[in-house]
Amino acid sequence: MNFQKEQILDRARGALLGTAVGDALGAGYEYKPPLAKDVPVAFTSSPGLAPGEYTDDTAQTIAIALAASRSDLSVSLDEVAKEFFRWYEEDGGGIGIQTQRIFAEVRDRTSADSLLAESLLFVHENERAAGNGSLMRTAVVALPFLSRPDVLGEVASEVSALTHADLDCREACVIWSKAIRHAILFENFDGIQLAINDLPSFRQSYWNDLFDATESVQDASEFNNNGWVIHAIQAAFKVIMSTASETPEHLVLGIEAAVRVGNDTDTVAAIAGALLGARWGYSAIPKPWLKEIHGWPGYKSKDLVSLADSITEPIWL
Ligand SMILES: [Mg+2]
Repeated sequence: MNFQKEQILDRARGALLGTAVGDALGAGYEYKPPLAKDVPVAFTSSPGLAPGEYTDDTAQTIAIALAASRSDLSVSLDEVAKEFFRWYEEDGGGIGIQTQRIFAEVRDRTSADSLLAESLLFVHENERAAGNGSLMRTAVVALPFLSRPDVLGEVASEVSALTHADLDCREACVIWSKAIRHAILFENFDGIQLAINDLPSFRQSYWNDLFDATESVQDASEFNNNGWVIHAIQAAFKVIMSTASETPEHLVLGIEAAVRVGNDTDTVAAIAGALLGARWGYSAIPKPWLKEIHGWPGYKSKDLVSLADSITEPIWL
């Protein structure tokens, strides 16, 4: 394939900025009931958040990207751990229960191994350890590994495990990160199925059944237990497929549909926005949305663009 630099960068930026606009739009509707299709979606304030301010989903995505800008994530995740704790200490807004409980126990806040040890302990001690808190931040893991899908799969699993070591969480991150890579390179959503096909066979049928189940529901809001990683990925997939279009308008329709799902809206919209952004690119995101978004560590859209560019593997060379 002969990849064009500007197009690859547009879609890589879209993965990060799609996460951010989905998160910031959804934040004003978090933990509310589903919205009807004709209710407009807009940036609104919510307790502790200004309109357009993104939350933990994007902040942790940025933390991973900053770590990737300084180090090779396939070698060490120590920088990811350091950036996670920098955010936790400087801001920490919107942190999920599972991540909060794990972070609070870690003594050495410079070591990925220390974080992983607490994460594994959490899975051991808790039946309900499959939250959506790693899937929401997995978009940027794809960017440095555009030419290495196998390595991407391993790194996505390891980054998930730092706080979400449950197999469902790790595989959800592998599937979504690989789908994002595929969308950046090939402008379609086939990467989900291709990623499932790479899993062990008994896990293939597990995930195929979960994605097939999205066809038999009327509306994505039926996956309303979406703090759970399975309903979160099903809801995100359903809104993408049920708004499918041949034009970049798909990005807007899909993100708005994700916000209307209700409950953990910022995270479902961040997950859907990441893949829609990877498919349709930064250029598909409405300018008024880009003007509004902001958050830790004092970033606006232009900073997120620079960050995405800095970690995207230059496969056009
Ligand atoms: Mg959030």
